[in-house]
Amino acid sequence: MKTIGLIGGMSWESTAHYYRVLNQSTATRLGGLHSAPLLIHSVDFAPVAAMQSAGDWEGAGAILAQSAKTLVAAGAEIIGLATNTMHIVADTITAGLDAPFVHIGDPTSDALLADGFDTVGLLGTRFTMEMGFYRERLEARGLKVLIPEVGRTNLNGIIYEELCLGIIREQSRTIYIDAIAQLAARGAQAVILGCTEIGMLIDDSTSPLPVYDTTDLHAKALVTAALA
Ligand code: GLU
Repeated sequence: MKTIGLIGGMSWESTAHYYRVLNQSTATRLGGLHSAPLLIHSVDFAPVAAMQSAGDWEGAGAILAQSAKTLVAAGAEIIGLATNTMHIVADTITAGLDAPFVHIGDPTSDALLADGFDTVGLLGTRFTMEMGFYRERLEARGLKVLIPEVGRTNLNGIIYEELCLGIIREQSRTIYIDAIAQLAARGAQAVILGCTEIGMLIDDSTSPLPVYDTTDLHAKALVTAALA
């Protein structure tokens, strides 16, 4: 099995979940005491989040590209970026990178298409929902992607002010459930948890639509790539 390199810390709450799924998935596939050969380079999220707010994607891209290079220099053979939002700078990270990069949108669209869905709701940060870099990747694979018509600021705020800090509030769960119900009413057949923290709040038992959790799908895809 190849060594996986994970660019993490955005937030560390979801990177901790990645660590668990990477190892569980490896144990499921290889059995016994197997666990994932794995390096995590966990960045300080505060300056990255400040760059997001300022629209400084070049600065944030430089930090994450350096992180990827650090992982490869340390022995990582497959690279994953443990946040949907920062895939805005995926091209900067992969430019000149000496290892394959598993884009979080690809296992997500593969799973939806394999299950026969063509119209899906997308929840995530306002960057992921509004900026197009993520939707367009899914749409290029044949999916129709719906984002909430109202309440996006609130959904975004819950991610940065609660979930990234490990805070789980019932009223926030209700806000997410309502947003999913509205996507369902507009024709969505399933919902993408397009932010690596939303799985802390929503799962198949609470969602009105089948849930596609990008954290789980991405972590499992990294294991698949490492075993190929
Ligand atoms: N982890 C989140 C995501 O998947 C949000 C934090 C970030 O902005 O990177 O988009």
